[in-house]
Amino acid sequence: MVEKIESVVIGGGQAGLSLSYYLSRAGREHIVLEKASQVANAWRNRRWDSFTLITPNWSFRLPGAEYTDSEPEGFMPKKEIIRRFEQFELQNQLPVRYSTRVERLNPSKAKSISHLTEDKVYESKNVIFATGCSRRQESSLCHANTARTPSNPL
Ligand SMILES: Cc1cc2nc3c(=O)[nH]c(=O)nc-3n(C[C@H](O)[C@H](O)[C@H](O)COP(=O)(O)OP(=O)(O)OC[C@H]3O[C@@H](n4cnc5c(N)ncnc54)[C@H](O)[C@@H]3O)c2cc1C
Repeated sequence: MVEKIESVVIGGGQAGLSLSYYLSRAGREHIVLEKASQVANAWRNRRWDSFTLITPNWSFRLPGAEYTDSEPEGFMPKKEIIRRFEQFELQNQLPVRYSTRVERLNPSKAKSISHLTEDKVYESKNVIFATGCSRRQESSLCHANTARTPSNPL
């Protein structure tokens, strides 16, 4: 099954969600594909239970949800970080599709890009990587494919 859409954002971490927030405000058609089943995957599943931010609370700046509480110089714990992501998602009703891992990208000459997930193909004019690119698997997806997008034909 093929779904056509103007822009696809891969990854629903803070970068992907922030981008989706601004695309939504600009009225641009898009979806965010996120492999995890819930928001805040990096913080929820890739940090230990006693984790706290190492950057001060004032630097927590999801758009429209910037930290304004009473401890700007504090370091919020994991639970609080996740709660803020959940609240952000709820407030903004962003078009995130969870449990949707992008397996492969197929750049084409027709200025569209196919994104293959387990059971579906998405076709879009624009693709934005917001996968964090810090782990080997994700960065290989990035490097293998961004190098040959229609706008950057190597
Ligand atoms: C131990 C540790 C501590 C940190 N502490 C701090 C801190 O105190 N303060 C701070 O500001 N920063 C901190 N960081 C950095 C911070 O976590 C990152 O800067 C931030 O998570 C980057 O956000 P992002 O949206 O770019 O990527 P991520 O948060 O990594 O989000 C990427 C998303 O893409 C999804 N994804 C990846 N591949 C695919 C795919 N193929 N298909 C679909 N979805 C996919 C992932 O599931 C994930 O949800 C820390 C990092 C680490 C590792």
